[in-house]
Amino acid sequence: MVGAVLELDGLSVAFGAKRAVRGLSFGVAEGELVCLLGPSGCGKTTTLRAIAGLERPDGGRIAVAGRVLADADGSVPPPERGIGFLFQDFALFPHLTVAQNVAYGMTRRQRATDTGRVESLLERIRLGHLAGSYPHMLSGGEQQRVALVRALAPRPRVVLLDEPFSSLDASLRAGLREETVRILKDAGVTVLMVTHDPEEALVTADRIVLMRDGRAVQTGTPDQLYSAPVDAFTAAFFGAVNRLPGTVEGGTIRTEFGGLANPGFDDGAPVEVLVRPDGLSLAADGPGAEMEVCSVHFAGASSLIRLGRDRAAPNHEHFHARLPGLARHGVGEPVRVSIDRDRAFVFGPPR
Ligand code: ATP
Repeated sequence: MVGAVLELDGLSVAFGAKRAVRGLSFGVAEGELVCLLGPSGCGKTTTLRAIAGLERPDGGRIAVAGRVLADADGSVPPPERGIGFLFQDFALFPHLTVAQNVAYGMTRRQRATDTGRVESLLERIRLGHLAGSYPHMLSGGEQQRVALVRALAPRPRVVLLDEPFSSLDASLRAGLREETVRILKDAGVTVLMVTHDPEEALVTADRIVLMRDGRAVQTGTPDQLYSAPVDAFTAAFFGAVNRLPGTVEGGTIRTEFGGLANPGFDDGAPVEVLVRPDGLSLAADGPGAEMEVCSVHFAGASSLIRLGRDRAAPNHEHFHARLPGLARHGVGEPVRVSIDRDRAFVFGPPR
């Protein structure tokens, strides 16, 4: 990637026979926040640890601002990489005050020349009044904010965050996430953040790298991954999908729920159509598949409707529709189900 501050080029990391990261390449531009997203065990943390210098790559290259940190010729030791970290199990030093914790990673020279750095960072997180307190006197959210500015204090070019919000309870998480992004953006720092939570990646990232089995499946903006997934794995990773078999007939993909434009599959090719619950439309009559409403769950901003061909049949196949607001459909009601063409994805058989 031209002009990337952090560059990975064909990075591979193995633990014995286990190839945790397999030829991973992507770049993070100056000031950009990229989320490394994927299911448990896909290699996200290993990638971060390799960038930090805590795992040795078997192949490929890692560079920051054009300086090679690791390749076949050698490796720069972690403290000399100019990278800040905030890992999941971040721990403040219990015997140091908040201010001493924040100053911890700064060099002696930085402390002498970058005067006021610690105070201004603590002000930025509104904890200036706790500078002399010890970590055990702070709430979990406050400790997390201190750990974040501790990572920023030495003015690193790149900051790595590993599941930084996962240890916090849900009520704190959203607020702290927003504040963390604001602090990182204000600092203008280049960020790579690991998460397994697709919603977290969608709301925080400028771009997402979705990983599977040590490889990047798709890299792009949140909208690109959500609205134009490259495969069924990517589509399903961002939320439940309905799956329908399709047949290709010239310019049309035919499904039980209606036709879609053929994006270029050969006649007769087996295809699968994936459609999110908000991509199904329900009507009293007209085109579409005949189904009946099996259940309706009101969830505040929307209602989730379970649909089936025959509610009474054992193990019958279900489809899910999500309609805005309070749905006016009753259980057992016959409905016609069709697809919103703009919200359906067509894929060939898995490669
Ligand atoms: P999670 O979200 O669960 O943390 P992850 O995507 O971060 O998962 P990694 O921790 O990078 O995944 O692990 C990738 C693979 O490498 C896994 O199969 C894991 O078991 C394996 N692995 C990681 N660290 C080691 C190690 N030190 N020794 C052996 N295998 C390891």
